[in-house]
Amino acid sequence: MSEHLGLDLWIKRDDLTGFAFGGNKGRKLEYLIPEIQASGAETVVTCGSLQSNFVRQLGAACRMIGVRCVAVVMELPFDGPAGKPDTTPLPLGGNARLGELFGIEFCIQEDGTWDRLFEQMDDEADRRRANGETVMVIPVGGSSVAGAYSFMKAGEELGAGFDAVVTASSSGSTQVGLAYHFAGTSTEVIGVACDPEPELPQDLSDLALRLDDAVGKGARLSPEDFHFPLDWVGPGYGVPSDKGQAAFEALMQLEGIPLDPVYSAKAFSGLIDMAADGRVKGRVCFWHTGGLPSLLALPVHG
Ligand SMILES: *Cc1c(COP(=O)(O)O)cnc(C)c1O
Repeated sequence: MSEHLGLDLWIKRDDLTGFAFGGNKGRKLEYLIPEIQASGAETVVTCGSLQSNFVRQLGAACRMIGVRCVAVVMELPFDGPAGKPDTTPLPLGGNARLGELFGIEFCIQEDGTWDRLFEQMDDEADRRRANGETVMVIPVGGSSVAGAYSFMKAGEELGAGFDAVVTASSSGSTQVGLAYHFAGTSTEVIGVACDPEPELPQDLSDLALRLDDAVGKGARLSPEDFHFPLDWVGPGYGVPSDKGQAAFEALMQLEGIPLDPVYSAKAFSGLIDMAADGRVKGRVCFWHTGGLPSLLALPVHG
């Protein structure tokens, strides 16, 4: 693949982190789970799509510590301005099936915007509190300060000497943690958008400032510090793209490494195009965030 792209490609295999089928969310849970335990909550409420990788791994972790996991989900949350992508109903299986096996309580909502889903999550938490349950709400994708902190630590693991790190970005704490770690170095972090949300760099900056308040390194990242290209989202969040499918085939054929259709295949399609036009060059790390269970649920083409 390095020869194919004309650069020195490295791949960080977070698809192989291992816990409950692996992926980037295992890193966040390393720090989120102690917070849940310290809170004394008996129930955790989160939200996401039905094929959320975070929900799957959170559910497995909650099972281990004896906490109930409630996931307020939609089949396909979509962004208001961009509208709902045109797609046939997405089949079950993949993460939805694993979540069921792991004992997650799904509250399935009608498809709508992310903002509506966040409200429905808060309503579900309030309803349970009113019933006397102690509840902790975990934001979508585990993108709290703890989640971002885990990817700051992950950046330390990678070390220096890369011209660029390219990864998929959606709820944002993966990109925030990496960008925070590499701030002020010669390593550029590019988070390829998997959600058509041009306003996300503001959220990324807000989370980075909260991370800095906690860590105290003094790196104050503004929205402009986040490279968040929207060019490879395809039909929309959660719907496979043709370019992603081509990227999947290329990496499978040359290296035998699978990508997932919702995140990593879109990010890798971005890397392929950015290598072709010289936007990235030299020693480049593709941060493979995992997500492979959804390969067993979604159709190949959008
Ligand atoms: C959640 C997820 C991402 C995006 O990470 P964020 O921290 O939410 O931006 C990328 N790839 C996969 C496979 C994921 O599950």
